Amino acid sequence: MRSESFTDERQSAIGMLSMENKQIPLMIPSIGEEEIRAVETVLRSGFLVQGEEVSKLEKHFCNYLGCKNAVAVSNGTASLHLALTALGVGREHEVIVPAFSHIATANAVELVGAKPVFVDINLDTFNINTDLIEGCITSRTKAIIPVHEFGLCCDMNPIMSLAKKYDLHVIEDAACGLGATDNDKNAGTFGDVGSFSLHPRKLITSGEGGVVTTEEPELAEKFAILRNHGSSLSNGVAGFVEAGFNYRLTDIQAALANEQFKRIDEILARKNLLAELYCDNIRNSKITLPKIPKGKGHSWQTFHVMLDKSINRDESLIKLKSKGIYCNYGAQCIPAESYYREKYGYKISRQYPEAWNAYTQGIALPMYERLSEEDIFYISDELNLL
Ligand SMILES: *Cc1c(COP(=O)(O)O)cnc(C)c1O
Repeated sequence: MRSESFTDERQSAIGMLSMENKQIPLMIPSIGEEEIRAVETVLRSGFLVQGEEVSKLEKHFCNYLGCKNAVAVSNGTASLHLALTALGVGREHEVIVPAFSHIATANAVELVGAKPVFVDINLDTFNINTDLIEGCITSRTKAIIPVHEFGLCCDMNPIMSLAKKYDLHVIEDAACGLGATDNDKNAGTFGDVGSFSLHPRKLITSGEGGVVTTEEPELAEKFAILRNHGSSLSNGVAGFVEAGFNYRLTDIQAALANEQFKRIDEILARKNLLAELYCDNIRNSKITLPKIPKGKGHSWQTFHVMLDKSINRDESLIKLKSKGIYCNYGAQCIPAESYYREKYGYKISRQYPEAWNAYTQGIALPMYERLSEEDIFYISDELNLL
């Protein structure tokens, strides 16, 4: 009986939604009055760039992750670039990256002049297939960048063992990984460096922003120097000791993220609840739901499902959009993008079949704190009709 009345409630909710011409975007950042007031306070203070709010944000990261050093930068791409630069990755080197990720993961490697060596992913997790890494290591390999795709932490233990065996740096691209865990250890705290993003599509946002974390104080100092034009204080005198960048974050942005940090557990819990609701309500044999391996805590940066080959992904995106549901592909099959394909001449379907599958048959569903239960029922019902 209970399940019947549940269904009735759902039916009426769906009816109301379609009458209202409901629009459900892929993502809405949770910006409240507190965030707006915090930003206003900075604007009225007259001190806009890399001050107290940035320091506070760095402390929030250290406390939350349980790491020693955090350096805030202008975005998640800058943080990857900074990490590679500080670790001395350059022209003669190769860096192992997953074939399915945000394009920035590979672009950062290109930007330091090194060669990205793509490794296919595991379709159960959308993360790098750890079994394939060792076969791609050469005498030029300098680093591995595991990506915690969609908020699911990679299997870090085998990756760290390989890094130890071959003396490689590990930079975790944890842009989607804030709040993700592997056996209660936070994503971003396994490798030499954790790289985070505060873009609006991530768990918490500063508009644009990024953070690099590390246990090593010398590395953290190098990050801080490179972020600020290469300037360093020595015996109280400022000098330029590196040809650095301007990768500073503003206090305006940091103040926004600091407010978000106060609600991070709430946001995470809400996203986990919404993910459960999706899993309970999407019932279509042609749709594969995300799996959560034992011991992992998912942060649901993206809720990503796979459509069976009998469903045309792009047509589905259009169909869903006509119902007011805005979905998108999940991430790029990077070696298939023209810059990489033309430069390195990959045979995509042979070399990266799973990354290509994920790119062509995957969809990211709306996922954000303010998404309602009714929205999930409505979206799930439309997916069940595909
Ligand atoms: C978002 C993202 C980035 C880039 O972060 P920005 O802050 O947008 O520069 C890099 N890697 C991954 C995996 C991402 O999801």
